[in-house]
Amino acid sequence: MNKGKKLYEGKAKIIYETKEKGLVIQHFKDDATAFNNLKKANVEGKGVLNNRISEHILTNLNQCGIKTHLVKRLNMREQLIKHAEIFPIEFIVRNIATGSLSKRLGIADGTVFETPLLEYCYKNDDLGDPVVSKEHIFAFGWAKKDEIDLIDKTTHRINDLLQGMFRGVGIKLVDFKLEYGKVWEKDKQEIVLADEISPDTCRLWDIKSERKLDKDRFRKDLGNIIQAYQEVARRLGIMPEETNISEVKFGKPKSVDIKKK
Ligand code: 5GP
Repeated sequence: MNKGKKLYEGKAKIIYETKEKGLVIQHFKDDATAFNNLKKANVEGKGVLNNRISEHILTNLNQCGIKTHLVKRLNMREQLIKHAEIFPIEFIVRNIATGSLSKRLGIADGTVFETPLLEYCYKNDDLGDPVVSKEHIFAFGWAKKDEIDLIDKTTHRINDLLQGMFRGVGIKLVDFKLEYGKVWEKDKQEIVLADEISPDTCRLWDIKSERKLDKDRFRKDLGNIIQAYQEVARRLGIMPEETNISEVKFGKPKSVDIKKK
């Protein structure tokens, strides 16, 4: 698959056009950013791991009936995806209080929620992705009511599936961010899960030790970032034991057991 011109470059990914109608290439960079771009670094191998982990998770969600933008992984750093018109909203799911929620509302770090909390953030770097209500979303035309109803339902189902998937490998899914977009399927538009699901977009804690296996290692200067991402890949069964990321040659996607609710 030949890459065409660059369509968009974000903090962690680049989108390239292809000759295929409706399809683009998503390239995973090694760049890590935090605090609205104030903190930046190059973390060698991160893009490769996120590409593989996200492919694995989206493939498994798709097998459970969740529509996604993923067509296939092309190589170590790239995926062929459907070109989606992304809603300007980040859908944040929280199972345990931490991060910006604890800071914003003073909820004790580690408080376990009886029911998962869903928050919406307006995707705007200049404003720092502020939390918004459904009323804002409808008032400013960022999405329609029936679209948000469908996305809310899908998001809660994804949370159930991911919690089961991670629990099975000794990881607590603390919180995560999803993005959705619209793609054309024949002559009608359909909503699909877009972007990525990886340790960059989730908080993942080891069940026993509560060791952080996600981007908080970068945000909080905890070190061993790549080792933590490798640990997630290993536990998900997509990376052999004792492998060094520089030597990795990933095989075909393998299914893991996602517990259906
Ligand atoms: P918080 O709002 O506590 O900073 O983040 C909540 C969850 O959403 C975390 O798992 C975090 O990784 C994810 N998240 C929120 N905003 C972003 C973002 O702009 N980029 C990425 N990669 N993840 C985000």
